[in-house]
Amino acid sequence: FSRVWLFMEINLDYNNIDFKDKIINLPKGVKIVNIYGDNINISTLCDILENVKNNIEIRCNYNKEINNEFLKRNTYQGFNRSILNMVKKICVENVTSNDYVVDMTVGNGNDTLFLANISKKVFGFDIQDIAIKNTTKLLEENNVDNYELFNISHDKIDIVLNKYKNNIKLILFNLGYLPCGDKFITTNHETTLNAIKSSLDMLKNDSLILVVFYPHPEGKLEAKVVLDYLNNYNLNYTIYKNTPNEDAPYLVVISK
Ligand code: SAM
Repeated sequence: FSRVWLFMEINLDYNNIDFKDKIINLPKGVKIVNIYGDNINISTLCDILENVKNNIEIRCNYNKEINNEFLKRNTYQGFNRSILNMVKKICVENVTSNDYVVDMTVGNGNDTLFLANISKKVFGFDIQDIAIKNTTKLLEENNVDNYELFNISHDKIDIVLNKYKNNIKLILFNLGYLPCGDKFITTNHETTLNAIKSSLDMLKNDSLILVVFYPHPEGKLEAKVVLDYLNNYNLNYTIYKNTPNEDAPYLVVISK
């Protein structure tokens, strides 16, 4: 068993009598847990998952059902697996099918797909061809057509979407680098700050900018310049953290 721990990824059988003990007491260093088994009861599984330590990625054939269950329970504070659950909750609570929204970092398209499904139309930006391709593919596979993607840096939002000025309901920044992509192509503090300034002009009243910061060195700098700016201009924002761990991603919601 210990040989497997070294790989930081383990498999756990839901039907094993020790399943709950094992998943709650995972040793330090385990990053990914694959859950398998027959007749998985989503509600029971979610009761257990609420106790799992922070920053562990859970993979299971029922990820969609698990996320839906947590959204339904509205127990975000108890469920600390991913800050993106909070992002989704806030999006669902604020966006309607009449709203225009923007995904500022489309990456592999997961957030874009989610936003397309809850809005009138989603606009998406990314500076990488591969990100635009991956996102287009994901949206097409899901029969989504209420989107428009731009292979342009997101700080140009005010130019590219000029005719939607004061008409955007929510703008999402999921910062950092493309998962499974080139880790050297990352968002950076200068363009991120400029993009946030431009985004403020795009929002209609009673609207939100959501920014997920990741605490790698450039991410920390991004957070610092953005928070300094918000403080200097007395802008309204709330920070959401789902763990006391300083090295976990967190969410800043800016409201207009
Ligand atoms: N939302 C994505 C998803 O669901 O898969 C994940 C986004 S990933 C963490 C960050 C993305 O930001 C990368 O794809 C990267 O190419 C993109 N990016 C970096 N700098 C950018 C910029 N100036 N403008 C637009 N996108 C940028």
